[in-house]
Amino acid sequence: MREIGHFIGGKSVKGVSGRFGDVFDPNTGEVQAKVALAKHSEVEHAIANAEAAQPVWAATNPQRRARVMFKFLELVQKEYDSLARLLSSEHGKTFPDAKGDIQRGLEVVEFACGIPNLMKGEFSGSAGPNTDLYSLRQPLGVVAGITPFNFPAMIPLWKAAPALACGNAFILKPSERAPSVPMRIAELFLEAGLPEGVFNVVNGDKEAVDTILNDKRIMAVGFVGSSAIAEYIYTTGCANGKRVQCFGGAKNHMIVMPDADMDQAVDALIGAGYGSAGERCMAISVAVPVGEKTADALLKKLIPRVESLKIGPSTDPQADYGPLVTKQALDRVKGYVDTGVKEGAKLLVDGRGFKMQGYENGFFMGGCLFDHVTPDMTIYKEEIFGPVLSVVRAKDYEEAVRLPSEHEYGNGVAIYTRDGDTARDFVSRVEVGMVGVNFAIPVPLSYYTFGGWKRSGFGDLNQHGPDSIRFYTKTKTVTSRWPTGTKEGAEFVIPTMK
Ligand code: NAD
Repeated sequence: MREIGHFIGGKSVKGVSGRFGDVFDPNTGEVQAKVALAKHSEVEHAIANAEAAQPVWAATNPQRRARVMFKFLELVQKEYDSLARLLSSEHGKTFPDAKGDIQRGLEVVEFACGIPNLMKGEFSGSAGPNTDLYSLRQPLGVVAGITPFNFPAMIPLWKAAPALACGNAFILKPSERAPSVPMRIAELFLEAGLPEGVFNVVNGDKEAVDTILNDKRIMAVGFVGSSAIAEYIYTTGCANGKRVQCFGGAKNHMIVMPDADMDQAVDALIGAGYGSAGERCMAISVAVPVGEKTADALLKKLIPRVESLKIGPSTDPQADYGPLVTKQALDRVKGYVDTGVKEGAKLLVDGRGFKMQGYENGFFMGGCLFDHVTPDMTIYKEEIFGPVLSVVRAKDYEEAVRLPSEHEYGNGVAIYTRDGDTARDFVSRVEVGMVGVNFAIPVPLSYYTFGGWKRSGFGDLNQHGPDSIRFYTKTKTVTSRWPTGTKEGAEFVIPTMK
């Protein structure tokens, strides 16, 4: 059995805790590897390595740090396909989707290549008599990222690239369900020229996370995962004096206005609702047609599309989506569908009984479609994170704006309409962090920032884009004058620039 350890001090090391997690092949249901779950002292060892390596890296000029980013991009290009295969073999998403996962991560590395420019401070010459005022951005020191299973390349890179480019040492605690790509990313950064110890990976569970949260040497923690854990990490990390940003779960609505192009709307719902088996934080899980006529027209086209979704192993290039990540995830999603039926929602397409021929033990599930879902139902309130789409019929536009705005999650939302005025009004009023206009998965590009509102995001700075540079640096502001300016003796009044 393949054993996955940790990556500390520039090399792969075996785990010594004696505790392991199972890494499945979701296509077959078999355990394909054992991942070590770090104990307290192993995480401390990684932190010590990071702390020792960080000052030299911070003192490396930003152009040279950028060159490591450029080199990393080049190295990944050479093994793009094998990385994508490795990713999909643990996650279960299809090969093309795995490539997209890597691509969206690389785009943040591309952004980080601009670090010499991004880290420039401000300067005001002669802000006062013979006095200059300027600001510097300096790295924080050792920072950590804790990431979810569903984007094993993208999210570790969203954390690592800006953190490293800013001159920090970085400790990654990836998901124990898909650890191999994060491990390879750390090796590739080393190959790209990153000094040993600047990027460490500790695999693990709560014990590793709690060590990160409690260790005084870690200055900042970036987390992505479910909201309950996000809140725990945010409150614990903040209580320990760290800078923390946590991104949580989601319930993304797509509003379909009566004037929308129904074919486009259906295509959008099929892709954004069922792609990656719905295991995306920006998946659309609620469709909101406005008016009964719109709902009927939408469902007429949607039902056959959900019924004919092509589910296959992650290796099948024709598959729309592959298996869920684990049996536990599959059971949880099916449980939600059972609850939806019990609570009175109308299950129009039932994918619970789907079996993948030749892969009977894989974690596959057919697409499910609910109609007449109401806001008081569990399947509306909670994140299902599976191939299940709920239709909530809104009587008018006002109700359609209210639904996502009043939901406890506020990650993404989309509106499909041909009316610019409606779209503009929606964009300005909806209480959600990322909005798509005729765009179902509005994940901003790397030079903008990504972050949800309400229980989808804890903390005040978003991921990637300019916010990431602010998050991973601290500002030092300097007021400076040279001896000619200090001839007037002691001053007992607060300095003003007169
Ligand atoms: P998860 O919360 O189970 O795990 C995320 C990380 O937290 C993992 O590294 C895990 O090991 C760790 N963890 C789990 N339980 C813990 C505990 N009790 N104490 C400390 N650490 C713990 O999430 P997941 O299932 O891996 O990922 C899916 C979730 O992530 C979904 O809710 C999805 O919406 C969310 N997500 C959000 C975004 C976003 O940007 N908002 C992006 C991707 C995924």
